[in-house]
Amino acid sequence: MDRNAMADSSIPASLAAQLSEIVGEEAIVWRRSELKVYDCDGWTVEKSMPDLLVLPHTTAEVSAVLKALDRHGVAFVPRGAGTGLSGGCLPLNAPVMICTSRMNRILSIDYGNRRVEVESGVVNLHVSNAVKAQGYFYSPDPSSQMACTIGGNVSENSGGPHTLKYGVTTNHVLGAELVLPDGEIVNLGGATEERLGYDLVGALVGAEGTAGIVTRATLKLTREPEGRQTLLAIFADVADATRTVSAIIAAGIIPGAIEMMDNLIIRAVEEAFHIGLPPDAAAVLIIEIDGLSVGLGDRMGQVGRLASECGAGDIRVARDDKEREAIWKGRKRAFGAVGRLAPNYATQDGVVPRTRLPDILREIAAIAERYRLRIGNVFHAGDGNIHPIVLYDERDYDEVRRAIEAGRDILKACVDLGGSLTGEHGIGAEKMAEMPLIFSPDDLIVMSELRRVFDPNQRSNPNKVIPTPGGCVEVSQPHRQAPL
Ligand SMILES: Cc1cc2nc3c(=O)[nH]c(=O)nc-3n(C[C@H](O)[C@H](O)[C@H](O)COP(=O)(O)OP(=O)(O)OC[C@H]3O[C@@H](n4cnc5c(N)ncnc54)[C@H](O)[C@@H]3O)c2cc1C
Repeated sequence: MDRNAMADSSIPASLAAQLSEIVGEEAIVWRRSELKVYDCDGWTVEKSMPDLLVLPHTTAEVSAVLKALDRHGVAFVPRGAGTGLSGGCLPLNAPVMICTSRMNRILSIDYGNRRVEVESGVVNLHVSNAVKAQGYFYSPDPSSQMACTIGGNVSENSGGPHTLKYGVTTNHVLGAELVLPDGEIVNLGGATEERLGYDLVGALVGAEGTAGIVTRATLKLTREPEGRQTLLAIFADVADATRTVSAIIAAGIIPGAIEMMDNLIIRAVEEAFHIGLPPDAAAVLIIEIDGLSVGLGDRMGQVGRLASECGAGDIRVARDDKEREAIWKGRKRAFGAVGRLAPNYATQDGVVPRTRLPDILREIAAIAERYRLRIGNVFHAGDGNIHPIVLYDERDYDEVRRAIEAGRDILKACVDLGGSLTGEHGIGAEKMAEMPLIFSPDDLIVMSELRRVFDPNQRSNPNKVIPTPGGCVEVSQPHRQAPL
C-alpha cells in the first residue's frame, strides 16, 4: 500500500497496515480508480466511495478486521455482490467497506435434514446448482440470483418470483453465524426449526447490514416439485391482468409464481431476447403451477379459464422445458433489457394488497404523466409486490429530480392503498425518509433499541434504514446524487 497515496484517506495509516496484515495486501483495495466500482449498488441515483475495501477470506479474518475497526472507532458497510436496489451498501459515514465475495464456499449439504451450510458470499444460484442433481433447490430466487449473495439475501430478506408459494428468505434460514461490530463471533438459531427464546435469526434477516457481518448461514433445502407447467396469458387491458391475479387466488389455487410485465417491459424484453412476446399486448401474466403431476393439467386448465373469463385474449402453455425456460429468461432478465430504453433507471419496490393492483397501476400511470417520465412495470403480481421502473438520464438534473419525486409519490400511493414501502429490496439509503409514513416515532425508537442490541455504537452500516428523529440523516462523507 502506498502510504503517500493514502494521505487523503480518513483511515489512519496504522489501521490500514493492521488490516493489510490480517487479510493480506492483495485483499485490500485503496486506489480511488479501483474503488470507483464500489461507489453504488443497483440504486444508481446516489453515489459514494469507501476509503478502503477489505475482502476477507474467513470468519476469523472478519472478526480480526472488525476488532481493529472497533479499536479505532471506525464505521464500516458490509457488501455482498452490490446488486441491492435501495442503496443498502452505499457507504454513508462508513469509510471501510467489507465485501464477502471471497467467502464463497458451500460448507456442507445434509439431504437427510434438508439443509445446507454456506459462507455468506456464496452466490444464490450456486446453492441450487449444487443440490439439483439430488432433486432439491434453494427456493428464494431473486431475479438477480446469478449474481447476488446469500449474505445480501439474508440482509434484505429477499424474495423472488416463487415467493408466492414458497415464502421469502426468512422462511428458509435456520441459523446464521454473525460477527458483531466489536468482532465477537456469535451463532444465532441452529440446525433445527424448533428453537427456544427470542427469534434472533428473525431479527437478523432483513437487518440490512446494521447488525454486523453475516459470515455463514444454514439454509433449508426444498424438494423439486414432481411437475411444473407454465403459461403466458396475454391481455389487451392491464386491469384485466391484475383482476386475473385475485381471481386465481380467490379460487383457492396458489401457483408457484404469478408475474406480470406491462407493454413497455414486454417490448424491451422482446427486442432483447426474441422469445415471442406479443409487442402490442398491454400486459402479460406468467403463471406457473407446480406440485404433484396428477391433477396439474386440470389446475392449469382452471387457471387458463379464469384468465379468459377476466379478459385474456390469448393463453399459451409452454410445451416443454425449453419454452418454459425461454419465458423465465425473459422475466428474469427484464431489468437488463430495460437498459436498452434509457441510460438510467430506478426500480421501485412497493407493496399493495393484491386486490388493489388495478388502483396502483392507474396511479403509477398518472404519476408518469404528471412527472413527464416513462415508467414500466414488471413485478411479483401474486404478492402485490410492484416494481415500477422509472427511466431517466442522469445527465439531466431536472429529470433525476422528477424521477426521485415520482418514486416517492408511488410509495406514498402504496401506503395510502393499505400497502407497504418495500416487499424485498429493503429501505437502505433510498427510502429512509418515507419510514414515518408507516411507523410512528415510538416504533422507530423501538427499532433503534433492537439495532443497538447488535450494534451499540451504530458502526455497522450507519445512516441506513432508521431515520434519525426530526428528519433524515446528516451525512458528512462525500456523497452525491447522480447528476451533481
Ligand atoms: C436485476 C436485478 C434483479 C433483482 N431482483 C430481485 C428480486 O427478484 N427479489 C429481490 O428480493 N431482490 C432483487 N434484487 C435486489 C438484490 O439483488 C437483492 O437485494 C440481493 O439480496 C442483494 O444481494 P447482494 O449480495 O448483491 O447484496 P448487496 O447489494 O451487496 O447488499 C445488500 C444489503 O445487504 C448488506 N449485506 C450484504 N452482505 C452482507 C453480509 N454478509 N452481512 C451483513 N450485511 C450484508 C449490505 O450492507 C446491504 O445493506 C434485484 C437486483 C437486480 C440488480
